[in-house]
Amino acid sequence: MKPVTAASIIRKQTYGVAVKNGNNAVCIGNNAPVVVQSMTNTDTSDIEATVVQVRELAKAGSELVRVTVNTPEAAKAIPAIREQLDQSGCDVPLVGDFHYNGHLLLTQFPECAQALSKYRINPGNVGQGVKRDVHFAEMISVACRYDKPVRIGVNWGSLDQGLLERLMDENSWRMDPWPVKSVMYEALVSSAIESADKAVELGLPKDHIVLSCKVSDVQDLVAVYRELSCRCQYALHLGLTEAGGGSKGIVASVAALSVLLQEGIGDTIRISLTPGPGEARTREVIVAQELLQTMGMRSFVPLVVSCPGCGRTSSDLFQKLAAHTQDFLREQMPFWKRRFPGVEKMSVAVMGCIVNGPGESRHANIGISLPGSGESPAVPVFVDGKKVTTLRGDNIAGQFQEIILEYVET
Ligand code: SF4
Repeated sequence: MKPVTAASIIRKQTYGVAVKNGNNAVCIGNNAPVVVQSMTNTDTSDIEATVVQVRELAKAGSELVRVTVNTPEAAKAIPAIREQLDQSGCDVPLVGDFHYNGHLLLTQFPECAQALSKYRINPGNVGQGVKRDVHFAEMISVACRYDKPVRIGVNWGSLDQGLLERLMDENSWRMDPWPVKSVMYEALVSSAIESADKAVELGLPKDHIVLSCKVSDVQDLVAVYRELSCRCQYALHLGLTEAGGGSKGIVASVAALSVLLQEGIGDTIRISLTPGPGEARTREVIVAQELLQTMGMRSFVPLVVSCPGCGRTSSDLFQKLAAHTQDFLREQMPFWKRRFPGVEKMSVAVMGCIVNGPGESRHANIGISLPGSGESPAVPVFVDGKKVTTLRGDNIAGQFQEIILEYVET
């Protein structure tokens, strides 16, 4: 049987879009690695809070960070946010998210338009009728003037009502319930592609356009993006909107995005999670990275393989060690990344007893098999398939971290 690997994924050919800030150019599309992005939830006019959160998201691995630009105060804050980020060594490109008044903000605040690396425009929110076309053209004109790429981001919740009504009328003769979904898909895809084509007519190059068509239902998202991908070559931004929080948000996003990514659809992803009380915004970045890494498409941080534990697990050391080891690897990555290229591909196994422990540990670069109930308190450690030592005593976690550090540094 032919093995299924990331190499089996044939990416859909799309135009490559460069999103630049200084010397940092992030490429979306044209077979570039799928880009991870996220969005702040601060009031953008609060410069200090926004800078802190952009830095946190970038440090966690967000390669683009989107910020809301909804008021003149927010637009005025953008150049200062950019400057402070650059001064602190954070060169992550910033994407401005515009709705309703984007044409005014982009034209009235040229420093904002200049400081942003990319604009997100929602064609359902730029006005109605003739005004819609005028406002859209004004924003595209600014993008052309400053050579900025644009994401044309359609959302089911804010779809162009004129287009939807027209399609509903055209399909009113059809039988329920088929046409409702079909018309919804068509309206989303048509809105995105027609807006992109209009932007091209207005002078924006095709390699400056990213499209998205976000919905909140997994099956709808898969159907819409399959259609969108068939009908255009624009780079695609994937995301399940209003995915929710906790495990529900993660499962729904991963279910939808993994199907599409496996089919080669998608050039950049955002996992939109509602943070739980006290939960870090960076959670969605980590989930996005882990999705791409577990699919074998990219590597970010060495991932821990661990068993679920069961009645044979003898103590909570096993669970603690698995969790602490993953945290330790994530914390070390910023220091390791430049010094030890490729370290992100390392695998570490933390197992709970001898049933699967030694076997799984031998498959990893570094593995540890803790004793199950009734087993000897000795803890074997395996490096590149060979047993190298046996740990004992109260500081198993510390000794294991030392072994990982030594492995990486030698
Ligand atoms: Fe249970 Fe051992 Fe299997 Fe872990 S490896 S799930 S502790 S039997």
